[in-house]
Amino acid sequence: MLPYAEPYKIKMIEPMYPSTRDDREQWIKDARYNLFNLKSHQVFIDLLTDSGTGAMSQEQWSALMSGDESYAGSKSFEQLRETITSLTGFPYVLPTHQGRAAENVLFSVLVKEGNVIPGNAHFDTTKGHIEFRKANAFDCTIDEASDTSVYHPFKGNLDIGKLENVFQVYGKERIPFIIVTITCNSTGGQPVSMENMKAVREFADKYGIPVIFDAARFAENAYFIKTREKGHKDRSVREIVKEMFSLADGMTMSSKKDGIVNMGGFIALNSKAIFREATTYNIMFEGYITYGGMSGRDMAALARGLKEATTFAYLESRIKQVHYLGEVLRENGIPVQEPFGGHAIFVDAGRFLPRVPKEEFIAQTLALELYLESGVRAVEIGTLLADRNPETRENRYPKLEMVRLTIPRRVYTRNHMDYVAAAMQHIYQRQDTITSGYKIRYEAPIMRHFTVELEKIPGSV
Ligand SMILES: *Cc1c(COP(=O)(O)O)cnc(C)c1O
Repeated sequence: MLPYAEPYKIKMIEPMYPSTRDDREQWIKDARYNLFNLKSHQVFIDLLTDSGTGAMSQEQWSALMSGDESYAGSKSFEQLRETITSLTGFPYVLPTHQGRAAENVLFSVLVKEGNVIPGNAHFDTTKGHIEFRKANAFDCTIDEASDTSVYHPFKGNLDIGKLENVFQVYGKERIPFIIVTITCNSTGGQPVSMENMKAVREFADKYGIPVIFDAARFAENAYFIKTREKGHKDRSVREIVKEMFSLADGMTMSSKKDGIVNMGGFIALNSKAIFREATTYNIMFEGYITYGGMSGRDMAALARGLKEATTFAYLESRIKQVHYLGEVLRENGIPVQEPFGGHAIFVDAGRFLPRVPKEEFIAQTLALELYLESGVRAVEIGTLLADRNPETRENRYPKLEMVRLTIPRRVYTRNHMDYVAAAMQHIYQRQDTITSGYKIRYEAPIMRHFTVELEKIPGSV
């Protein structure tokens, strides 16, 4: 059998910035050991996020040139609306400048003080927009999601028993909708099965409650349904996408993910009444209803990006690249979370660096080692991110200390993946010598990981 090869080639290139270990030692010290503080030219391979970091196609770049910048009724908006409606079936579309803006607008209509919104491991900004309105987000993800030792093909699934429990305890009057995140970012880009979406729909119908999809990676989710779930193998990605959205009443979207654009978002809905209410908030917060914070050209590129993202050839190259990195790491004995998700590989830092005490930020220590070793920037998903308990102000130690290697769409090559894996391997070979980590010099009262300043504890390499 011939090896797999990407179904695209490179027309335009962007320089990368190699550096020496001495350079990086100085830069990361100046950055107070916070990877968010680095300048992009101080990073060689940037695996901080897959959000807004993808490469557009020649068709998307061409679409930019023919964008219609009319304030109202732009042709580019029509293209975008038609594309979204034909993919999802939702007739009502509101553009926004990014995903959290879609949440802000839609939740301004739907979420009231004292409400409870059950879902599968709500994304940070989703939870933020719920809690900001003095409502509560309840995580109803299946238990298998937080156990790295068990295999489950759809670790983003909701537990219907947990949903039932939330309805029993709080009553349906306090529950404006159920939110389903596809794929579930917070559990590692894990997909939700079609069967589970159907079960959630049936459950919601029993109570007469709407279902909203947080759909940032809906195309990657459809790929997993096609390749992992019984009965979907011979269906096209778009047929699966259409069926998925037929099980929801509306969606919020961060187009920076599966829209393959650098900025953008939208809301799409079945209900004209909710759309009308949301329109007012969109005009207040985002912009007029036919642009909502996006340029005409950006809407044109997004319309094209959504079409490309829902082709099997694109999705196969995307997911295979992510899984290639995971497989090389696994073959080298490096502890990684499985099954591999859609957009990132999660390295289990707790098992990688067993000698670093948890009080010294194990995952951050590994992410910093990786940067110093190779210039690769990853992101900590551990104690710094988990923050402090708001009442006791004690550090919250999460079940898992993870380093996330997030792969931008269509940006890096297989050689880059090999480089990242080799850097990890070098560190793994001297894991015994890494016995200490970092302590905090400054932290903000909330969301500290973005701006935290750290100091090296003597003994760390
Ligand atoms: C990125 C993301 C968001 C927020 O979108 P932004 O475009 O970053 O504002 C919401 N939900 C999920 C699942 C996401 O991945």
